[in-house]
Amino acid sequence: MRGKLVIGNWKMNGSLEANRCLLQELLPPLAALKGVGVAVCPPFPYLAQVAGLLEGSGVALGAQNLNAAEKGAFTGEVAGGMLAELGCRYVLVGHSERRSLYGESDEAVAEKFEAALAAGLVPVLCVGETLAQRRDGSTEAVIAAQVRAVLQRVGSAAIAVAVVAYEPVWAIGTGETATPEQAQAVHRHIRALLGEADGVLAAATPILYGGSVKADNAAALFAQPDIDGGLIGGASLEAASFLAICQAAR
Ligand code: PEP
Repeated sequence: MRGKLVIGNWKMNGSLEANRCLLQELLPPLAALKGVGVAVCPPFPYLAQVAGLLEGSGVALGAQNLNAAEKGAFTGEVAGGMLAELGCRYVLVGHSERRSLYGESDEAVAEKFEAALAAGLVPVLCVGETLAQRRDGSTEAVIAAQVRAVLQRVGSAAIAVAVVAYEPVWAIGTGETATPEQAQAVHRHIRALLGEADGVLAAATPILYGGSVKADNAAALFAQPDIDGGLIGGASLEAASFLAICQAAR
């Protein structure tokens, strides 16, 4: 039985003061919310601060990226082991902003996914099509290539611990959301792709939806049979919105 999971991706936002205020508002009501896993992914410099603030709260810590290497001469990069040492449970891999702005290929994302597993982290594999790809009918093929690149590299171990996030690129930060039916169709496709590696594990893999999820559209999305929660960008920076989304997942 899959539980619900909501992950906040703070992207390159926050400050010591803003993080403290946000979590001060968020953590007490979240403590009363049962049956939903919640995590937040602050920028790297704030991981230690946020780890401290989250202590004993039941809210997990995640990071937004990692380097595929264990250590070495990679100026400006961060290794999975470092994230684990700071208390991260999750790490996003292949977010569309990483793919489009920093040129991460399906293969590079698969390498990062493998590195995350090796570091004991739960990789959150982000997949999604652009608007042009949706319009030309290649959504399923694009998602299949993104998922299979990971499965080919790590096999069914990939899905034993992982989370997948379907984030249509055209819905991220745009205010435009996939309809629950559109999202469900792709989530079903993703579960079938995972099932090619291992049907039992695929049935247990959380598949989150991301892309302009807000308090007023979350419940309808989360009610779909293959949508197991959300990866939330903009709305995770506002305590009331993020809380309402987490409550909608209950
Ligand atoms: C994201 O960046 O993962 C995301 C889903 O952003 P937003 O909720 O702002 O669309």
